[in-house]
Amino acid sequence: LDPVLAIVGRPNVGKSTLVNRILGRREAVVEDTPGVTRDRVSYPATWNGRNFTLVDTGGWVHDAKGIHARVADQAGIAADMADAVLFVVDSNVGATATDEAVVRMLRRKKKPVILVANKVDDMVQEADASALWSLGFGQPYPVSALHGRGTADMLDAAMEVL
Ligand code: GDP
Ligand code: MG
Repeated sequence: LDPVLAIVGRPNVGKSTLVNRILGRREAVVEDTPGVTRDRVSYPATWNGRNFTLVDTGGWVHDAKGIHARVADQAGIAADMADAVLFVVDSNVGATATDEAVVRMLRRKKKPVILVANKVDDMVQEADASALWSLGFGQPYPVSALHGRGTADMLDAAMEVL
């Protein structure tokens, strides 16, 4: 069975865009409106000759729980079924309270986490990515899921822990 790499993070940080970038085709649904991705969707993927299963997350029904708890729960469920996690944060926005809730959830899961600072579309924005060291998952990988910038280094790092 192929190892599972789950992509988690709050709505609109670019998880589905990153899935499409890794797959090399537009399969995951990207939306300007948050919350479009169905709960969890799995895709067969390959990097440097290694096969793995990529899991996109998102899609929460509105219920009594607040957004922080819903996003953290989704991340927790995905982490449980994964061998490693890509935790995506919007580097233009920085760490939000929802991101902090995901951090607390991922800590409990004790799975390897690669911290992805997405939307670093150019070199100038790399300084924003550095601020995410504060989340405590080590080096943030500056990535532009939209343009493909930095995704090779990010995947190399993911393969080392998968
Ligand atoms: P998800 O909710 O986390 O799955 O986020 P989506 O992949 O649906 O993307 C949300 C929005 O962010 C869309 O408008 C994307 O085009 C945009 N987006 C995603 N990645 C990037 C990126 O690297 N740079 C920029 N500038 N926008 C991005
Ligand atoms: Mg999505």
